[in-house]
Amino acid sequence: MDKCSFCGRQKDDVNLLIAGVSGHICDLCIEQAHSIIQEEMKQDTGFNLETEKVRKPKEIKELLGQYVIGQDIAKKVLSVAVYNHYKRLGQKESKDDVEIEKSNIILVGATGTGKTLLAKTIARMLQVPFTIVDATVLTEAGYVGEDIESLLTRLLQAADYDVKAAERGIVFIDEIDKIARKGDNPSITRDVSGEGVQQGLLKLLEGSIVNVPPQGGRKHPEQKMIPVDTKNILFICGGAFDGIEKKISNRLNTQVIGYGAQSAVDHIDRTNLLQYIAPQDLKSYGLIPEIIGRLPVLSHLDPLDRETLRNILTEPKNSIIKQYIKLFDMDNIELSFNTEALEYIVDKAIEFELGARGLRSICEAIMIDVMFETPSNSDTKQTITKEFAISQIEKMGSNRLKAS
Ligand code: ADP
Repeated sequence: MDKCSFCGRQKDDVNLLIAGVSGHICDLCIEQAHSIIQEEMKQDTGFNLETEKVRKPKEIKELLGQYVIGQDIAKKVLSVAVYNHYKRLGQKESKDDVEIEKSNIILVGATGTGKTLLAKTIARMLQVPFTIVDATVLTEAGYVGEDIESLLTRLLQAADYDVKAAERGIVFIDEIDKIARKGDNPSITRDVSGEGVQQGLLKLLEGSIVNVPPQGGRKHPEQKMIPVDTKNILFICGGAFDGIEKKISNRLNTQVIGYGAQSAVDHIDRTNLLQYIAPQDLKSYGLIPEIIGRLPVLSHLDPLDRETLRNILTEPKNSIIKQYIKLFDMDNIELSFNTEALEYIVDKAIEFELGARGLRSICEAIMIDVMFETPSNSDTKQTITKEFAISQIEKMGSNRLKAS
């Protein structure tokens, strides 16, 4: 009788026996072999520059451009930082003592200009675990709020508790400006929400082994901590840094003293001072120098002008308008928007000072009735005109939109 060439079980003792050229294998041995392969693969998730395709900065920037409109400088800076991060992950035991250091990133720009979107898009592109944490919920251990380690809990959860994957993930820390030291005087009474949190973040940013509570919080004191190495985790911080323009302006004015000073001052574009941001401005704003040192890549985001808002509506791969068209297409309804209607949506977003986030709420207000009615009638075509958009917005009442 045939038997498994691996374990020797007879054909009658197994569910399945597969014949090969000169032997057989049973289902049990196949399963066991499969789990051995899985185990081996898991251990080999370390980054390997030779086997993984490394995208060049230009390619990375182009990919970012499929989702993020404008923000050319931020995209360029990020592309290079991510490319170098890749290289860093792939560096072998160095023979020449040159070790490429981690390049965590800080993005400064008004809310709703695409900071989170940039970080999210990069994580999607690299196919690594990604999490967004709000710096305002973090507090020093012992105070009400979340411990700093909890941001790694979130990353672990995003990685399905695959520690190796989490250790190569990306963490986006939003509202980093909210943990700035209040006031320029470092000796003011202990600042619970600000400087202490910055101190706590230091060891995560630079790379160390951190014991992470798998469920987060202090509600589960019995949980076993998971050690996570943050050496290869890329941290991207974002913040609006309201009022930092004043610090930039002061610095620019005091820097340019002497011969030719007046012409240098004249060349400054005062409508967008953020473009001149430098690490010392972050320090004047209240970030401690150690934190700034661990966020060596600094970039600004431009305010969104009319043209950019207009493009955001239709250009990104998953733009709002494309999403509506797809939703209707699923019901075999051909949806289209008149150009004037799109211009009107942009006008309203500007008027209500809602930025890019407002585009969505304005579109929702315009589309709600159509989305409610159309699937039940026999129309196969639907066109959104400016007149229709106006009537819907007026019906909704602009106050409601402004408040959103
Ligand atoms: P931030 O993090 O700067 O506050 P977000 O990245 O969360 O802003 O942007 C909010 C929303 O606005 C995003 O979901 C996106 O739809 C849109 N958005 C903002 N900026 C851009 C941009 N430059 N390109 C495309 N969409 C954008």
